[in-house]
Amino acid sequence: MSGLYFHIPFCRKACVYCDFHFSTSLATKDWVLAAMRTELRTRIAELKGAALGSIYFGGGTPSLLSPKELSTFLDETRSLARIEADAEITIEANPDDISAAVLAGWRGVGITRVSLGIQSFREERLQWMGRAHNAEQSLRAIEQVANAGFSSWTIDLIYGLPGMDLTEWDEQLTIALEHGMPHLSAYCLTVETRTALHKQVLTGRIVPSNDEDQAAQFEHGIARVAEVGLVQYEISNFGKRGHFAKHNTSYWQGIPYLGIGPSAHSYDGVERRWNVANNVRYALGVEGSGLFWEKESLTPAQRINERLLTGLRTMWGVDIASLGEAFRKVNAKTIQHYLALNELEERNGHLILTPKGKNFADRIASDLFMPTT
Ligand code: SF4
Repeated sequence: MSGLYFHIPFCRKACVYCDFHFSTSLATKDWVLAAMRTELRTRIAELKGAALGSIYFGGGTPSLLSPKELSTFLDETRSLARIEADAEITIEANPDDISAAVLAGWRGVGITRVSLGIQSFREERLQWMGRAHNAEQSLRAIEQVANAGFSSWTIDLIYGLPGMDLTEWDEQLTIALEHGMPHLSAYCLTVETRTALHKQVLTGRIVPSNDEDQAAQFEHGIARVAEVGLVQYEISNFGKRGHFAKHNTSYWQGIPYLGIGPSAHSYDGVERRWNVANNVRYALGVEGSGLFWEKESLTPAQRINERLLTGLRTMWGVDIASLGEAFRKVNAKTIQHYLALNELEERNGHLILTPKGKNFADRIASDLFMPTT
């Protein structure tokens, strides 16, 4: 099985915290989309005949595309590759793009899952974030998506906002969970360099939330979603059984995927490749005017470290045997240390983070990294 990712690099507005690649000018949209279809045709052989278990339209804002534009990608893919009968086909969507007609169009072209970028139900928060939608649109979009007949759907929420307390976060979760969604992603706000938020922090206009508040909100979120039967199958992702995101899970499990579009990444199990994060240079490159991608071969140690970084974030953990004999030898003491701290457990041959360890996932993974030089 493989995955296919399309990066749609356009947004209506720039969100204050966002460091993904996108443009707010749609002037090059048709040109870039045509280049993406060309890239798909050129690179489909990289799947080596593997059937697609998932297709993901991410961005950017894929819901800016009409159902007809989306269908050109799906029809092209169907003509070039095998798609599994139960493949998950997801579109990331912003609430202001949702209408009954749009949802029917998406279902008609084969979309099976909608991921709604809600982020907050508070008007003043959405305005501060620079989101294109308002709180009323969030609620209406959720109701429409819930009743549109997709196999699954999910929403994104952000916690750890400046000045956010447990009362506000609890209110956000309550509003979300009363809609009975089968899946929820809850991300902690991070201040990425080269974002408007970073500038606001540097100039002292914004005081970011502190580690203690973020940890308290993280743990509160876990407790609240567990009450309604959502399983934390990845640090930031919660789903009912049968609704875990196939596409993202395949990233975390090291399954190969092909990424199409500006800034899209691909991984074939050994090599990682990434396209230029610039729409014009990308489209010109696909047309033959210059290289539009870079790639690197991962060493065995780098591959182990990637498995640790992503696999430890999941409820399945990492299969120790798959990391090789040298891993155990190098890390015997570190593993014992984290077992003693009750931050890691060893179960059925897998290293798995305990509830306590989930607070320190990245640090534990990097402490277990194999030397790369
Ligand atoms: S809509 Fe999404 S991709 Fe676009 S700027 Fe906002 S967070 Fe970034």
